[in-house]
Amino acid sequence: MTTCPLCDGSLRPAYRNPHATFADREERLHLVVEACADCGFLFQTSALDPEYRRIMRAGYETYYGHDIFDFPRRDAENLKARDMILRHLPARPMPSLLEIGSNKGDLLYLLKEARPDCNVLGVDPGQADDRGVPTVRDHFDPERFASRFDVVVLKHILEHFTAPRAFLAGVKQVLADDGFLYVDVPNLEWILRDATEGFVLHHVGYYDAHTLALALEGFEAVDMEQEASLRAVFRKTRAPHRPGARGASEALGLCARLERNREQALRQVEDMVRRGGRIVYFGVYTIFRLLHRELRRRMPSAVCLFHDDNFAGEREPVFGLERCGDFREDDVVILCSNNSQTLDAMERGLAGKGLFLVRPWRPLNPATPSPDTP
Ligand SMILES: [Zn+2]
Repeated sequence: MTTCPLCDGSLRPAYRNPHATFADREERLHLVVEACADCGFLFQTSALDPEYRRIMRAGYETYYGHDIFDFPRRDAENLKARDMILRHLPARPMPSLLEIGSNKGDLLYLLKEARPDCNVLGVDPGQADDRGVPTVRDHFDPERFASRFDVVVLKHILEHFTAPRAFLAGVKQVLADDGFLYVDVPNLEWILRDATEGFVLHHVGYYDAHTLALALEGFEAVDMEQEASLRAVFRKTRAPHRPGARGASEALGLCARLERNREQALRQVEDMVRRGGRIVYFGVYTIFRLLHRELRRRMPSAVCLFHDDNFAGEREPVFGLERCGDFREDDVVILCSNNSQTLDAMERGLAGKGLFLVRPWRPLNPATPSPDTP
């Protein structure tokens, strides 16, 4: 029987999507998230399926196929991560910093720009073009590093591991005794509170401040920012570790609400499409690709378009959908983000146009009451 990867407690079903899709692959899987009855950790047990592992392994090899961002990517997420890390980077000359899962090296580039004397190194299995950021192109193996680092960075990495305790033990091994660990994960508290499309196949562990502290045995948090991402800096400690038990009842209720909202919203979209409405995806990044693969299955005859002020092409590159020039009154506009701050901004920008806006997962139609909002 599968137990909680953080505390070995027992798991109970919390959320499921029988036809979940990957952003960049055609395969579908039954996504199952379970909650630990003891510590409240939410964990995607469907990620333990051998089929899941096979698909993900293939996915990492083609990770850069849909990359449309400039290098280095100076988006708010990277800049906030950079600034928080800089606050804790030792002032002494030539500190060393390792980023595990460094992708193309955007964050390392930005850090080096701000602290040229910092020795940065990345580890990432993806085969990206050389951008001048020193990177070990392989999976992380603590045995490969002879010296230890002043800072280790895990930016949107921890949520992908099925065995986080073993991975974090390896991280601890390469971190200096007075070193700092920067961790950045999707914030479960925000996913549940704002009912956003947060449970996705490519994320295995869903952390909040409580379960992150539980996972980081031998560390104490010294800095934390809570937004759609949970950003925190930890330092090694010898103090005894045992965050209290919490249970799963609150999380189970919020997961059930999210599942209900999702199904109701999708049914409303189906209804609008049946009456001739077009689907317009607002924003063409990861969540768009996930949603379009799913909606294409549910509503194969729907006319689908996209709109994105930050993307110049007349057709988006993955499915070849055409740009929506002018919105029509019966268009169903799906706001493609799982960041509630981004969703708020999208919603403000489209307010007052009389459009049927769908915020995953909360339909917003002036003519239809919203189902079950907080
Ligand atoms: Zn647990």
